Amino acid sequence: MTTVAERSESSILPYITATGPFSDPDYEPGQEVLDFLHTSRILVIGAGGLGCEILKDLALSGFKSIDVIDMDTIDVSNLNRQFLFRRHDVGASKAETAANFVMARVAGVTINAHCCRIQDMTHAYYRQFTLVVCGLDSIEARRWMNATLCQIVTDNSADPLALIPLIDGGTEGFKGSARVILPGVSACYECSLDTLGVRTVYPVCTIANTPRLPEHCVEWASVLEWPRHWGDVKFDADDPLAVDWMYATALTRAKQFNINGVTRSLTLGVVKNIIPAIALTNAVVAAACCSEAFKLVTGCTASLENFMMYSGDDSIFTYTFKYERKENCAVCGYDSKTFTAQRWWTLQDFVDHIAEQNEVQMKQPSLATARKNLYLRKPEALEKATRPNLSKKLCDLVEDGTEEVAITDPQLPISVRCKIVFAGSDERAEFVDV
Ligand SMILES: [Zn+2]
Repeated sequence: MTTVAERSESSILPYITATGPFSDPDYEPGQEVLDFLHTSRILVIGAGGLGCEILKDLALSGFKSIDVIDMDTIDVSNLNRQFLFRRHDVGASKAETAANFVMARVAGVTINAHCCRIQDMTHAYYRQFTLVVCGLDSIEARRWMNATLCQIVTDNSADPLALIPLIDGGTEGFKGSARVILPGVSACYECSLDTLGVRTVYPVCTIANTPRLPEHCVEWASVLEWPRHWGDVKFDADDPLAVDWMYATALTRAKQFNINGVTRSLTLGVVKNIIPAIALTNAVVAAACCSEAFKLVTGCTASLENFMMYSGDDSIFTYTFKYERKENCAVCGYDSKTFTAQRWWTLQDFVDHIAEQNEVQMKQPSLATARKNLYLRKPEALEKATRPNLSKKLCDLVEDGTEEVAITDPQLPISVRCKIVFAGSDERAEFVDV
């Protein structure tokens, strides 16, 4: 009897013992490639729906040294698709449970599990890896990982080993994507941030007074009624009783206004801003990510250049295209961005404007120029000191078109540099009812 490890090894050998039509001209198949595959250290971020698939695929593709980071513990609702977990694992660390399962199944594979946040690890830790595969459901975590790997390249420009490729998988219902990022070389995650939508925000006045959509009723229950009833108690979407309350409250509102369509799953979707996870999409995307990992490490054939989009909700459809690097990317670019502001805007108006920009996507922006702090959220003393600036006119604080403003957010290791060009009149136009 052959073992799982032996069978998977024999299945990859044809790719690393001979060249193929798309192999790099410099590709030299043989034992060295196999050795490199075995000794390369791969870091997997996330051990959820995508992460379970990625760990399994990597272990069955000849990778023997893997680390996995996930701060979450296993919830009963994960069991339908996070197939490395069993009912008796509920409450245990996802990273540790997934690692133990794969190691028990595939002999010779070592997986180091870390139940922590990616922000807890140092640059020195990340530098140990040949490449990083992300299976995350959070844009912030992806931005953080992308910025960190780009920073490592910048800090060690003379060292080619500092270039650690990032393979990023993402799924949303029946849709998914896989991309290959060579930090400092190809378009990074931040370069294409403007292609991601910002979460729909419904105006509070609509929610409070003129609801038209089932989503408005859920937002009413969540934004207005929850704090009124429960005070500071945070809504927990994993608590069935809390979800029941939210659903019932939204439903009552919907009946008052004759609005159809409020369901429990819509309620959850709106409050958590989630779309149901589909196990099949995770499998497709993880397979694409891991075949890219295999190709990048062995060099046996050409890599994805550089984005694959998969759509399973309208038949099955996939295509690939190349994201271009942006000169004014906050992470890998050199130029600053330019924003246009109205002359009558206060700093607060500009802060609100920034929050709506797809290419920035910072929830808690702090702003400073080389000369002064415009508005800082932290520490408290500086927040207090800079708060009066929010009501001042922006054009009195910043030089038109020349002065660089740095925008930062405590969640991200990124500074967005921008220049502000002023337009329009000094006074806000008055709207007259006719
Ligand atoms: Zn970039």
